[in-house]
Amino acid sequence: MTDRQRLHATFMELCSIDSEPKNERPMADRLTGILRGLGFSVTEDDTGRKIGGNAGNLIARLDGTRPGASLLFSCHMDRVAPGVGVKPRIEGDYIISDGTTVLGADDAAGLAAIIEGLTVIREQNILHPPLEIVFTVAEELALTGSAHLDSSLITSRCGFVLDAGGPVGEIVVQAPEQAKINAVFVGRSAHAGFAPEEGISAIQMAALAITRMKLLRIDPETTANIGSIQAMGPTNIVCDRCSLQAEARSLDPQKLQAQVEGMVQTMKSVAAEMGGTVEVEIQRCYPSYQLDGDAEPVRRSAEAAARIGVPVRFKPTGGGSDANHYNNRGIPAVVLSCGYEKVHTTGERIALEQLDLLARWVVEIITG
Ligand SMILES: [Zn+2]
Repeated sequence: MTDRQRLHATFMELCSIDSEPKNERPMADRLTGILRGLGFSVTEDDTGRKIGGNAGNLIARLDGTRPGASLLFSCHMDRVAPGVGVKPRIEGDYIISDGTTVLGADDAAGLAAIIEGLTVIREQNILHPPLEIVFTVAEELALTGSAHLDSSLITSRCGFVLDAGGPVGEIVVQAPEQAKINAVFVGRSAHAGFAPEEGISAIQMAALAITRMKLLRIDPETTANIGSIQAMGPTNIVCDRCSLQAEARSLDPQKLQAQVEGMVQTMKSVAAEMGGTVEVEIQRCYPSYQLDGDAEPVRRSAEAAARIGVPVRFKPTGGGSDANHYNNRGIPAVVLSCGYEKVHTTGERIALEQLDLLARWVVEIITG
């Protein structure tokens, strides 16, 4: 039903378009052209201007050829660095990059599968309900693009976000909430040789606080991590400023709250103990969600997966996606596994067979 050659060509073309976060312009232009060619009306919001990028989220709409509730399909247009100058090629059963960049299958596999699915629907005159497509920017920057999306523009109440690793057929029904912590320890500078007792080392404060924190795997639902610490100074001065960036995630909002409070409390008590201070800023990145088996996108994607003959598996994820924002705004949405592997590395790859299955999954979800 789907055209494998065409799908592979679309995928490789999209991978070769430069599209790092906030530089999605060429990708947005290409996708707008493709969607208009398929009969969609396409608008672009002003998220690019708001976040300092050169493109906004694309929102596309196509009337149904049969009655039915509108369906939303969504992917992100950006990819992580190094994602410029990607040279995709087929090697054996896989599509890979040349090893100097990521492949960009995350999320070009989703983009290409949606385009192929829509192309099949249009050229074969297959009856379909109204369709909405959202292609977001800056997903890789903590879901910034979808955070700025005006969800009142979306009428669908059943969404499919093509944006997860794992074999086609796996459906993400649960995702964590994430918070980021930015902290700056402030101590007191002093000559490190003549009068170190007059100084308070911000580096020591940060180090002590980190060693006292509970980090990494907290429980089956909760994680926490220090991403970076920065302090810079000559060795002959007691360093008086040290900043630290951390995150915590949990499927359970209360556990997340407890973990974040624990980390912040530890920083404050260490600062007080050592005679310094700490300024802390907490940023809630995105909310968690959990869908049950009766939810329309869960049921619909599972039935469609069964029809293309792949095993169906419901799973939680430890990461966020645009689906966090959709669900939080009253648009139930699952994340579909796209079959790509080793994402966010230069070894990223996707099996041709998985890409083919993904496009067929899209068609089956639409026609189901
Ligand atoms: Zn992704």
